Amino acid sequence: MIANKEKLDQLYGELEQSWHSGSEEFWVFKTNEVNKIFAAAQTANDPGCSNRAWFLKTVCECHRDIFASSRLNQEKEFTKAWCLLERVEISLFQLKRNPIIEELENTVMSLAVVVEIWQKLYPYRVFISPEFVVRTIKCSICDEKFTPWTGCDHEKGKVYNGELCAGLISDAQFIGMAVVTDPVQKYSVMQPSRGDEGEEAYLHRHRIIDYATINLPDPFSLKGVLETEVREPHSKFPNLIENDVCPCKSGRSYGECCKVKSGILMPHLRMLVDEV
Ligand SMILES: [Zn+2]
Ligand SMILES: [Zn+2]
Repeated sequence: MIANKEKLDQLYGELEQSWHSGSEEFWVFKTNEVNKIFAAAQTANDPGCSNRAWFLKTVCECHRDIFASSRLNQEKEFTKAWCLLERVEISLFQLKRNPIIEELENTVMSLAVVVEIWQKLYPYRVFISPEFVVRTIKCSICDEKFTPWTGCDHEKGKVYNGELCAGLISDAQFIGMAVVTDPVQKYSVMQPSRGDEGEEAYLHRHRIIDYATINLPDPFSLKGVLETEVREPHSKFPNLIENDVCPCKSGRSYGECCKVKSGILMPHLRMLVDEV
C-alpha cells in the first residue's frame, strides 16, 4: 500500500504544470482526488500529511471556483459569480496565513491577483454590513470558550491536522445594519432585485463583466484592469442641458464644466489580456 504522503507528492508533481490552466471539470476531478488523500491522512491522524493535503486541496478548490465563477458569469448569474469569487478570496487569505507548501506561495499570490482583477469588473460599490454583539465564542478545534481572560492555545485562522481553527459564535445579539463601501463581507451587495429592475437593465448594469466573460477564452487570460478616464462625445448625452449636474461628477453644472471640453469625462476600464 502506498502511504498517503507518497500519494500526495505524486499528485502534487502531476499538478505542477497545471496551475492557472485547465477547466472546471479538470479541477473538480483533482479536488476530489486530493480530498480522498486528505480524508485518509486525517483518519490516520497524520498532522503533517493532513496539513499538506489541506493546502493542496484548497489551492485546487480555488482553481475550480475561479472557473466556476466564470461559468456563472456566462450564465448571467453575476451576483452568484461574485459571491463565489469572494469565497476564493477568503480561501486564499487562509492559505497565506498557513504557508504549508512554500513552493506554492507564488501560485497563491497570483491567484489573489486574478480574483482582484475580476472583482473590479463588477458594478458593486455599496454593501450592507450587519452588526452584532457577540456573547459566546468557542474554539472550533477543542470547543473551549474564549473569554478576555481564558482560552485555549489554538490560534484563530491557523490549520491543525488539516482543520482550520475558527471562532464559533454560539450566542450573539443582532444590533443593526450599516451601509458601507468597504465591507468585511462582499456578498451583501446592495442592488435592485432582478425582477424589479428588469432583465435589460440588469444586463446593462453588468455589461463590463459580461463583455469580459464573453470575449476572453478563460478567466486566467485577463492580466489586469486599468481604471482610467476618457472624454465621451457630447452626442452620447442627448438630453443634457446647461444647468444639469455634469455627468463627470465634478459637482459643477454641465455648462460650467465639460460642455466647453472635447467631451464628457467618464470612468473607463481598460482590460489587459495576453498577447496573441
Ligand atoms: Zn482550541
Ligand atoms: Zn464635467
